[in-house]
Amino acid sequence: MSSLLPIIWRSNSEEYEKARIGRVFNHRRPERSPLAVVAPTCTSHIIDTVLLAIQRECRISVRSGGHSWAAWSVRDDAILIDLGNFREISLDEKTGIVKASPSTTGRMLNSFLAEKGRMFAGGHCPDVGLGGFLLQGGMGWNCKNWGWACQSIAAIDVVTADGSFIHCGADQNSELFWAARGAGPGFPGVVTRFYLQSRPSFSHMRSSAYSYPKSDYRKAMDWVLSITADFDSDTEIAAVSSYPPGHDEIHITVLFVTFKNSEEAALKALQRAEDSHPAGTVGHWFCKSTSLEQEYNDQARASPEGYRYTADNAYICNDANVSEILEEAFTTLPSRKAFALWYSMAPVSRCPLENMALSMQSDHYFALYTVWEHKEDDERCQNWVKNIMRGVEIHSEGAYLGDSDFQVRGTRFWGEKEGIRLHDIRRKWDPLGTICGYLDAGDISGVNGLENVHEWVANVKI
Ligand SMILES: Cc1cc2nc3c(=O)[nH]c(=O)nc-3n(C[C@H](O)[C@H](O)[C@H](O)COP(=O)(O)OP(=O)(O)OC[C@H]3O[C@@H](n4cnc5c(N)ncnc54)[C@H](O)[C@@H]3O)c2cc1C
Repeated sequence: MSSLLPIIWRSNSEEYEKARIGRVFNHRRPERSPLAVVAPTCTSHIIDTVLLAIQRECRISVRSGGHSWAAWSVRDDAILIDLGNFREISLDEKTGIVKASPSTTGRMLNSFLAEKGRMFAGGHCPDVGLGGFLLQGGMGWNCKNWGWACQSIAAIDVVTADGSFIHCGADQNSELFWAARGAGPGFPGVVTRFYLQSRPSFSHMRSSAYSYPKSDYRKAMDWVLSITADFDSDTEIAAVSSYPPGHDEIHITVLFVTFKNSEEAALKALQRAEDSHPAGTVGHWFCKSTSLEQEYNDQARASPEGYRYTADNAYICNDANVSEILEEAFTTLPSRKAFALWYSMAPVSRCPLENMALSMQSDHYFALYTVWEHKEDDERCQNWVKNIMRGVEIHSEGAYLGDSDFQVRGTRFWGEKEGIRLHDIRRKWDPLGTICGYLDAGDISGVNGLENVHEWVANVKI
């Protein structure tokens, strides 16, 4: 075992506290207390840490970007592997495959790729780590048309739960490769490297936005729902409910971001929305020049550092009355910084998915991001989210792992057979439950994993 393992054992020290939660995005920090935190700088540190955990009969948790809303990386009595100092990015210019360490953020990756005329459709928030994001599937830029970010994973390197170092791809250790695209925080190993297919970058990123007062919620929503499925295929579409800075009233903003290589193509893509949007906007722009950097800055402003957060989400059934079901969420936000999102997923949601664990989707992605400052508001804000989700869940197929907290709500995260296969693979590759897995209430799920059912609905029936 390496004597140089960069490990900090549990203590009352500031150093331990910083290692425990310093890189956790959500300032509603957990009390949970890992046995130790290791900040590896090389693969052998990761292997040594897994072997140490086996020897001590304790669990391993992993942190890449620290952005899971429920701080999944912070687990009682586990050894936390914090990959923040484990860094690698390099591009094979011939194939466009970029090798990146899991703590690489979307902004880091795209700043690196931009110099080479390429991009990767990573997460919208600049600072989300590739590790958590890709393992869940990854709802990246223009996901509705380009598909899930994990579909661009060509291969991964993994330290397994028994401390072996292996390469996984379509032809090698393909079971783990299957699981890595959709297992989320239940992946039974530590990913040390992603091999990602990048794409050529776009010279003309443009956006349009149409803001309406809350009283026009139905008008705005019905309009965007009517044009989204066959809209231009390089354009992503979202509707957001928020209090814009300086306003005392909720606004509903419909946003279009297009990725093109000429002004003419961008204008053509966005014209349909410009021509069809309902009258009555309180704010509006058309085909404005933007960039990934600018979009990242806007996203960072919407989800600022240093706040308390809770998130939940649902894939609303394709045939549901979406405007009606989301109305309460969109018009009753509990705090000035909270926002509700509808994100168009069609037409990708209608295409058969690749053979991978990710297997839950619908045309309509709905998420709540509740943001507040003070502990006194925890209960009120969390209850608001729970109440909204109680009404919405029955109209949903399931949910996305990335915006979920299994301590609060268990639901369907995979198709039935994919859920069963995933849990079989987890048991096979980590029979002792060395890797922490899904953080449910009391952190007891272990090798059993998640039930993959609408638990609230199931409990009502009982
Ligand atoms: C502000 C904000 C914006 C977001 N925007 C988006 C978005 O646009 N699209 C989207 O899809 N999601 C988005 N998310 C959700 C985000 O993708 C998830 O929270 C994701 O888990 C964060 O990944 P991370 O590596 O930063 O988190 P971490 O907390 O570091 O990791 C989460 C968990 O994933 C597992 N994990 C991470 N790395 C590894 C690894 N190397 N090996 C094995 N297991 C690992 C571990 O269980 C870990 O605890 C957003 C989240 C935030 C806070």
